[in-house]
Amino acid sequence: APILLWFRRDLRLADQAAVVAAAQSGAPVIPVYVLDDETPKHRKLGAASRWWLHGSLKSLARDLEAKGNRLILRRGAAAEVLAQLAQETGAREIHGLHHYEPWWRNAEKAIRRKGLDLHLYDGNFLIPPGTVTTGAGTPYRIYTPFWRQVQMRMPPAEPVAAPARIPAPDLWPASEMLSDWDLLPTRPDWAPGFRAEWTPGEGGAQDRLDAFLPCSSLYEERRNLPSRPGTSRLSPHLAFGEISPATLWHAAMYQGGSVGVFLSELGWRDYAQNIIAEFPDYGAHSAKPDFEAMPWRDAPDDLKAWQAGMTGYPIVDAGMRELWVSGWMHNRVRMIVASFLIKHLLIDWRHGEQWFWDTLVDADYGQNAVNWQWSAGSGVDANQFTRIMAPLTQSPKFEAGDYIRRWVPELAGLDEGEIHDPTPITRRRCSYPMPIVGHVEGRERALAAYRAIKG
Ligand code: FAD
Repeated sequence: APILLWFRRDLRLADQAAVVAAAQSGAPVIPVYVLDDETPKHRKLGAASRWWLHGSLKSLARDLEAKGNRLILRRGAAAEVLAQLAQETGAREIHGLHHYEPWWRNAEKAIRRKGLDLHLYDGNFLIPPGTVTTGAGTPYRIYTPFWRQVQMRMPPAEPVAAPARIPAPDLWPASEMLSDWDLLPTRPDWAPGFRAEWTPGEGGAQDRLDAFLPCSSLYEERRNLPSRPGTSRLSPHLAFGEISPATLWHAAMYQGGSVGVFLSELGWRDYAQNIIAEFPDYGAHSAKPDFEAMPWRDAPDDLKAWQAGMTGYPIVDAGMRELWVSGWMHNRVRMIVASFLIKHLLIDWRHGEQWFWDTLVDADYGQNAVNWQWSAGSGVDANQFTRIMAPLTQSPKFEAGDYIRRWVPELAGLDEGEIHDPTPITRRRCSYPMPIVGHVEGRERALAAYRAIKG
């Protein structure tokens, strides 16, 4: 009987344990991707992720064809679709990688309830989530000791090359057409900035890595400076599983130099999966219960101004426009815009989480939720709500001038003295808005709200 090879956010052939197991089984292999927009509680992919998915599936289908196989596309609830495919093809086994989003774990239970034999493998993370625990056997809540434990279990296994061939069945089940899935924007086409920046797929991921490695020694020095290219920009490739973290780990170590900081950032990705494995609702509810009483403002116009990059804070607006145009935002600026929404505007972090989910090409349930709750100080980690970033201080401190000139073109002519906080006259001349809220005023309002929930 053939084997179903179930792809999710692990869209690669190299160092993909389920691909290896299926190819070595001796049975014919039917690779399948299921787009689930139906199951309640299954988070529908955001628009930017759908754009990415289109390119990634196209690339995977091409790579499978080069191995003598092809990719079957189906839509619907994963368990139903896979059961149906098993029936059509006579398959009894399904092979795939472990995922930790709550909806995937529900789908896995449903598949097993249907009597199908589901084999899941590790390899999308440095260490299988849930297996790094404290002396008392409980999961870590704080990153630093978590990362210390992970490092003790490094290196990860050497990455495995893609199999030379993946045996195909004699008869193919029907596949839907990728173009029928309408994953790409049509009218308006908001994706030219995406096309200019990104090449989804395993080949694109490898190219990104090859471009980053020679500069990785500058990572520590530059990673906080949004004006300079310094970080890897591998996040969407990692989010779609187009490259394995073990591949990155070994490539970075082989490159040598100061890669420790880069690898410890990669460690946050593992940490986030551990958190959602333990707290499946992390993207929907503040972990600290007193946040339920927070007097968030219902301020749709302020939320819109933030989304559109029209807050009157150049560093915030540059970040939000970079996000809109390219589907990505520099990490330092993500922290600034998140703090600004939650503290200065006193808007519930979940609105920010949802906007990022829809607009980021690297949108990831765990990483997004963990970082938003970190910014809010509502999470299981040690960060506090009272840590309020000052955008006008952060902007010169991290040399954001050129970054602002690029993404807020109406301010492009301003010099270093004015670019971070233009005078009212300059703002009028440049048709750039006044600050939506004063820094001190926003800060005081946030602190007062926090004092209120703390009694
Ligand atoms: P690099 O600096 O080159 O780091 C390498 C890899 O490590 C990244 O690709 C990423 O997978 C991982 N990583 C780095 N920083 C973090 C971090 N703080 N948390 C978790 N993983 C990290 N990242 C996402 O991938 N998806 C998200 O949905 C997401 N939402 C975020 C929301 C907020 C409010 C904030 C503050 C951060 C968020 N991040 C998210 C984390 C981080 O901003 C991005 O991973 C990073 O900017 C990606 O750029 P890079 O690939 O050049 O990173």
